[in-house]
Amino acid sequence: MDGPTILQEVSQQVSTCLRCNLHFSRKHAVPGEGPPNATMLFIGEGPGFHENEQGRPFVGQAGKLLEDLLGRIGLKRGDVFITNVVKCRPPGNRDPLPDELSACSEYLNRQIEALNPPVIVTLGRFSMAKFLPLARISDAHGRPVNVNGRLIVPMYHPAAALHQPSLKPALEKDFLQLPDLIRSGVHKEEPPPDSQIPLVDDKTENDSGSAEQLSLF
Ligand code: URA
Ligand code: SF4
Repeated sequence: MDGPTILQEVSQQVSTCLRCNLHFSRKHAVPGEGPPNATMLFIGEGPGFHENEQGRPFVGQAGKLLEDLLGRIGLKRGDVFITNVVKCRPPGNRDPLPDELSACSEYLNRQIEALNPPVIVTLGRFSMAKFLPLARISDAHGRPVNVNGRLIVPMYHPAAALHQPSLKPALEKDFLQLPDLIRSGVHKEEPPPDSQIPLVDDKTENDSGSAEQLSLF
């Protein structure tokens, strides 16, 4: 099956999925959207109120900020693929639970396989943890790591920056380095001497060992 067909199949399956308890309270599942040949994949946490109403990712306030940030680097939301680690809204926007994350992970894994994006931007702790389970977002944000041949760029979640305005400058700075990063494939800053960013596999995506895991810095 080719990439676009896999993406369509995932969307269809997500829209009627009953694999975890989040299906009980959802109005619309939110599979994600974007061009099948996108070179950048943005992964958030899960649908919120407006996403659950519309069945589309990042259409509320956090989505506005995401679009604004994309605009500053000359991109529109239609240029990138946008999805979440869980495809149905956790009630009251609570954090997704471990069993919900694991029930839903196969969909995201298939989307990643179909898109095969060279760059994945993780928005918030939960999507970062899929690739870098031991990293802390306060250290790891804006520091790209090569995981299984892909550049993983952890960033603060736009909703976190809206709640906690002190995080916004860091999110803006991290975003502004994306074009450069994509062009050069390397991170310009020196790592802090006590950098603890682990070199890990994404176990859910690829169990083939860590020989190719290379930090870019
Ligand atoms: N926050 C997310 O993490 N995802 C969305 O789709 C919207 C808000
Ligand atoms: Fe299925 Fe994921 Fe929705 Fe759970 S969150 S019902 S696993 S699509």
